[in-house]
Amino acid sequence: MISVQAVSKTYGKKKQNQFTALKNISVDIPSKSVVAIIGKSGSGKSTLMHVMSGLDRPTSGAVVVNGQSLQAMKPKQTDNFRATQMSFIFQAFFVEANQTCYENVSLPLEIAGVPIRSRRQKIMNALMAVDLTDKAEIRASTLSGGQKQRLAIARAIVNEPRIIFADEPTGNLDSATGEQIIDLLMGLNREQGCTIVIVTHDPDLAERCQYSIQMKDGQASPLMKRRPRRMVNS
Ligand code: ADP
Ligand code: MG
Repeated sequence: MISVQAVSKTYGKKKQNQFTALKNISVDIPSKSVVAIIGKSGSGKSTLMHVMSGLDRPTSGAVVVNGQSLQAMKPKQTDNFRATQMSFIFQAFFVEANQTCYENVSLPLEIAGVPIRSRRQKIMNALMAVDLTDKAEIRASTLSGGQKQRLAIARAIVNEPRIIFADEPTGNLDSATGEQIIDLLMGLNREQGCTIVIVTHDPDLAERCQYSIQMKDGQASPLMKRRPRRMVNS
């Protein structure tokens, strides 16, 4: 569970240019759920995600992930916690353009200290999950947008994270490719039980999530349960 407890976030040190992006937010995200964070541009969605994941610190309040308070950890512990338990997917497919797909997916394993001999199988499994096995030795710069995002997902899942944070993962993709990416994320949730938190503008994507949180001017609605998912053909 990710427990956000009375979290506020104010940007800016000087009084005259301070801006409060999160106002006293409390919300619990159950393990193994898929949650959409929705709301207008500037409402605080990305800030909330950054604070939830320890990428950014709240000005006040606490975030407790699987029983551990992120604020109580030393920076090194937070880094290690993130490297082993979480991963991130962003709108602007952050891949290393000059490296091969294989090298891109290897990176999180190196950061987490996985020994070389155990890397290959994990990397190939992750590339297979996103259907990029045949591109393993190809430079990332030659991939299409959809392929780059699939590569970003392979990199995000290679460490078998408990939680995946995705900020507008379909924002730069055409709708068919976006749909594929969503299918992939939903499959990961079903098959590996990872918790997925998705910031999105896309109503189709939000519709497919189990829960949503609506952000408005730095305030968050309670966790809302969406319609139960229907099976295909029923
Ligand atoms: P969203 O993701 O919903 O578009 P953000 O969380 O990115 O919104 O931003 C919320 C508000 O906080 C916006 O008004 C934005 O301008 C402001 N903000 C975001 N990051 C910073 C920052 N580093 N410094 C100052 N203001 C920021
Ligand atoms: Mg944003």
